[in-house]
Amino acid sequence: MVTTAEPVTKLVEAFNKLPGIGPKSAQRLTYYLLSRPGEEAKALAEAILALKEKTRLCSVCFYITDCDPCRICQDRERDHSKICVVERPSDIPPLERTGKYNGVYHVLHGPISPAQGIGPGELKAKEFLSRLQDGSVTEVILATNPNLEGETTAMYLRRMILPLGIRITRLARGLPFGADLEYADDMTLSQALEDRQEF
Ligand SMILES: [Zn+2]
Repeated sequence: MVTTAEPVTKLVEAFNKLPGIGPKSAQRLTYYLLSRPGEEAKALAEAILALKEKTRLCSVCFYITDCDPCRICQDRERDHSKICVVERPSDIPPLERTGKYNGVYHVLHGPISPAQGIGPGELKAKEFLSRLQDGSVTEVILATNPNLEGETTAMYLRRMILPLGIRITRLARGLPFGADLEYADDMTLSQALEDRQEF
C-alpha cells in the first residue's frame, strides 16, 4: 500500500536525481519545503522555470546568458585579446572567482571523446577557431580538464591554432591529473592560472 502522498513522492524523486543528493537528503528537502510558507516554494519553482526559459547560450562565447552577447563578452574593461577555452559553462565561475583572469572565454560544451563518439564537430570548436581569424586574439589559454579527454581536446585545438601564430598556454600542472576544473579549489586554480605554461 502506498502511504505517501503522490506530490511528496514526486518531489523526493526529482531531488534524488540531482547530483550529490541521496534519498535521505531528497526527503529532508521535500519535508523542509512542506514546512515553509507557500510563497517560498513558489519562488523556488519560478526560479527553476526561469533557469531554462530565460537563459540561452551567448552567440560569441557560448556561455549561459540572459543577454546576448553575455556580460563577459560585452565588458569593455576585459582583455578581448585573451581567450580561455573551457569544456563547460560551470568551469567559468571558479575561474572568475580567482580574480586572476581578465580575458574572455569560449565554452566548447564538452571534451572530445572518441570513446563516446564525440568529435570536434559535436563541440563549439569551429566557432572558436573562427573567433581567431581576425587577428585580434594574441593568447589562447587551454583550460580543458586535466584528464585524458581534456588533454585530447587541448592537443586537437593546439594543432588547429599553431598555424595562426597565436600564443598557446595551458593551465599549470598544480591541478591533479584526472581532476575536474569545476571542483578545483580557488588557491590551486589561481596558481594554475598564474603559472600557465606554453603549450
Ligand atoms: Zn559571451
